[in-house]
Amino acid sequence: TFVSFEGIDGSGKSTQARRLARRLEAEGRDVVLTREPGGSPGAEDIRKLVLEGDPDRWSAETELLLFTAARRDHLERTIRPALERGAIVICDRFADSTRAYQGRTRGGLGGMVDDLHALMIGVEPDLTILVDMDPAAALARAEERGGAELRFEEFGLTLQQEVRGFFLDLAKSHPARIRVVDGDRPPEAVEADIARIVSDHLER
Ligand code: C5P
Repeated sequence: TFVSFEGIDGSGKSTQARRLARRLEAEGRDVVLTREPGGSPGAEDIRKLVLEGDPDRWSAETELLLFTAARRDHLERTIRPALERGAIVICDRFADSTRAYQGRTRGGLGGMVDDLHALMIGVEPDLTILVDMDPAAALARAEERGGAELRFEEFGLTLQQEVRGFFLDLAKSHPARIRVVDGDRPPEAVEADIARIVSDHLER
């Protein structure tokens, strides 16, 4: 079973992915917790190329190719082998992030994103948890815990708002795969909702 987490920066999706992984492990399940961009040694190297250093180093198109190369490696080396042995794969971000960032807000490369996905990736998660959160609330939360989400501020609240809207629209067009969870609540409450959604899915 392949589960992805999506959401804007500061939505708490990484925390929730970790909590879900721990919970399923405690039930004795084989769980692989991974993330994108990254999740395999090669893809982690590509992550550094894309996310560190000068943000204008790559054109939008090249950035999309790098993200796609990272995803392909992650799929070949980490995700597929885990799914084949029957593990539950929990992935912090997957192709929906590329649809949102490279497809809409960054590059506006929507058609190219879809073509490359079909050509090189071709799989979707069985279940996607969208941790929905208002960007202003997410930023306030990040400031409160003192960990400045720098890229986040660079990225700007308006763009975060756009990404949020895009994710919500995507959820509407894929209601069977993408489940929206209200992230603007205590982590325990969010975790409980996600646990319920995932166990319902696993018992199907
Ligand atoms: O989720 P995480 O904080 O690791 O994401 C790192 C950064 O990469 C985020 O700021 C996100 O906006 C960006 N990103 C992106 N395109 C993707 C995935 C992530 O621009 N496909």
